[in-house]
Parts: sequence; C-alpha cells; structure tokens
Amino acid sequence: MDEVTTGSEARQIVRRARCAGCSIGLVPTMGYLHEGHLSLVAAARHETDLVVTSIFVNPTQFGPNEDFERYPRDMERDRQLAAATGTDLLVVPSGTEMYPDGPQGQRVWVEPGPLAKYLCGASRPGHFRGVATVVAKLFAMLEPDRAYFGEKDFQQAAIIRRMARDLGFPVEVRTVPTVREASGLARSSRNVYLSGEEREQASVLRAALLEAAGNIAAGERDPSALEAAIRSRIASGAPAARVDYVSVVDAQTLQPLEGYIERDVLVALAVYFGGTRLIDNITVSP
Ligand code: AMP
Repeated sequence: MDEVTTGSEARQIVRRARCAGCSIGLVPTMGYLHEGHLSLVAAARHETDLVVTSIFVNPTQFGPNEDFERYPRDMERDRQLAAATGTDLLVVPSGTEMYPDGPQGQRVWVEPGPLAKYLCGASRPGHFRGVATVVAKLFAMLEPDRAYFGEKDFQQAAIIRRMARDLGFPVEVRTVPTVREASGLARSSRNVYLSGEEREQASVLRAALLEAAGNIAAGERDPSALEAAIRSRIASGAPAARVDYVSVVDAQTLQPLEGYIERDVLVALAVYFGGTRLIDNITVSP
C-alpha cells in the first residue's frame, strides 16, 4: 500500500494507474476505521482496480459545539486495517492541503440544496455544505470512477449523488449496506464514546426501525403514527436516550410526507446518548 499526504503525489499515482487502464475506486472516510468502512473498501476492491482510501477529519462539517477536536483518531491502526483489507493508496491530506487558507478562509462552497433541508441537515446547520465541499475536493484531487458511501449516512449519499450529477463529476456513487454489531447497533467511530450501559440501550434504535418496517408491512400508512411508535419504543427501551429526530420521509426527495405513505420511504432517526449522537435508518416499500 502506498501512502501520501499531498494531492500532487496522489494524482501522480492515480493518473499512472489510469494510463495503465485501471479504474479508480475512492472510499472517503474520517478514519478510526471499523467494519463499516472496511465493507466500503471491500466493495471498491471488488469493483475497481485501484482502491484509494482517504482519511481526513473534515473541520467544516462539524458544528461549533460538536466533537471535531475530540473525534477519535488512530492512524497506526487505520494504516494496518486499510492495507489488510485491500487499499492500494491511502491518502491522508493535511489541513492546508484541503483548505489552503484554512477552514475559515474557504470562500467557495458546494451548497447541497433541498436534499439537505430536513433530517440531519435541519439538526446540523452547515454540516452537508462541509461534506459536499470536501467530497468535491476529493473528487477533483483523485478523479475516481466510483466512490463508495454507507447507507448509514443515507442523506449524505443522496446529496453526494446529486452533487456529482449537478456539477458533472464523472463519478458513479455507490452505496453499501450498513454494517452492524451483533446487537443491531450500526457501527460508528463514535460508538467508542458510549458507556457499556448506553451501548446496550442503543440497540433499541435498530429494533424500533425494524418494528416500523413491520408496521408498514402490516398496513400502517400514517407517518405520524409510525414516528410516535418509534419514539415510544425508544423511551421504553433506552431511558438514557434523548431523541433528536424521528422522521418518515420520501426516500427520493427526503422531504416529509404530506399525507399517507404511498411510495418508498426512509425512516430515519438521530438520538443522543449523553453527548454522543447516533443515527440510523431503514428504507421501506409500502
Ligand atoms: P465516516 O468516517 O464516519 O465519515 O464514514 C465514512 C464512510 O463510511 C461513509 O460513507 C459512511 O456512510 C460509511 N460508514 C460509516 N459507518 C458505516 C457502517 N456501519 N456501515 C457501512 N458504512 C458505514
């Protein structure tokens, strides 16, 4: 595995590979790799010739009171995991590589548009602008044919797909199913913040989403009734939880439903355990 810290070194390797006829697969991450990230690397390994994994904790997608400073980092472990699972090129850009004038000096941004209006976009103002902008920078730097994102961050993947389309990046955006712990809890770098008790209670999130899918399968079409059932399941199963949002939205537009469920929906939630914010979702066809 090669490892580089600058765009010019990365581009040299990527362009050489492309000239040799190789396709390029990109897995953008913020590091502290876990099995969720590794399933994206595996998908890229399966579908493309040169697998590029990037690690960059992007300051512009964190709010002022969020965990940018204390976001978990372990470069040595990440390096080993990335290599062991088939990364060819590990790109670990510096802050100035990604933001030449610093995050505060960035003047031109990618505005993520209406897909960012609800769900995490409503709770975390500016988050998806930071995400879309940094992913655009990575696309420009690494010129991938395919880029891999997790369904756990469904809204993020939808925004990136739309960005590629609207800005004309010749990148196919691929999504990979959420990897979970045995309890059902979605794997996340932030799970290390959870106490044992919180981690146990957090398994109720998946259970509540599955129950909602079951209710839809059984004929429930009222989004408010589904949301209420999820909230009450969380309240009873996880007394330590504080719900940020529970929302049933159109799976294409990510807008709240006007009336009853008629098309595919995304049932999504964000829940705090102490200072740790966890997200999860499920897509359901009525
Ligand atoms: P992050 O490092 O949290 O920014 O995540 C990098 C990529 O990994 C994003 O595309 C995430 O959606 C994806 N990802 C994170 N957790 C999981 C998971 N449990 N299963 C699948 N993909 C994930």
